[in-house]
Amino acid sequence: MRDLADLILPRVCPVCRENLSGVEREICLDCLSSLPYTYFWSYKNNPAEELFWGKVYFQRASSLFFYGDDSPYRHLVHELKYNGRSGIGTLLGSMLGRRLKDSGYYNDIDFVVSVPVHPFKYWMRGYNQATIIAKAVAGELNVNVIKGALSKRAFASSQTKMDPENRWKNAVESFSLASASKVEGKHILLIDDVLTTGATLEACGSALLCADGCRVSVATLAFVE
Ligand SMILES: [Zn+2]
Repeated sequence: MRDLADLILPRVCPVCRENLSGVEREICLDCLSSLPYTYFWSYKNNPAEELFWGKVYFQRASSLFFYGDDSPYRHLVHELKYNGRSGIGTLLGSMLGRRLKDSGYYNDIDFVVSVPVHPFKYWMRGYNQATIIAKAVAGELNVNVIKGALSKRAFASSQTKMDPENRWKNAVESFSLASASKVEGKHILLIDDVLTTGATLEACGSALLCADGCRVSVATLAFVE
């Protein structure tokens, strides 16, 4: 059936734009085998962790792969966020989760929390891409995703056109701890799709860290070079 469906409406690899074969899921095998892994999960004081130094204390920080301005791997996140291809989040989230688990650095995670999106964006997309990734990561770590720990305070205009300083201010104003009792004394793994300036994760992490005894680690699919 898959082959027949591919004839009628070919599925395309977001990275190279070639049609996917019947056995390929979301990304072609060539592009998957060339995924520019960060290997951040395997060592401390990595570039993801350095981003937060002096800002917020995270236990660990990691990302699955790199992309820069001209990298075709950017399209993976774009398709996930704006083109309904939630399967990309599930596939790459599982790959991220397996690496976090195998590293041994994430063994004491109690829950996974995803960075919230505004309800309007959720309604537009039909899903929160960070939650799709979070569910896949949590599945590999054998823990649950908890919902409703964080809330987005007000509509924050799209961050893509802002300079880093305004982006930071915008994000800081946007999140609050909705349920301290859920996260007190826990080690939370906070998930987002992309790590750029770290402002959004910093704002969410700072909100979570308001809960007594809470520790926070973060992980994303992509790390922007
Ligand atoms: Zn490809």
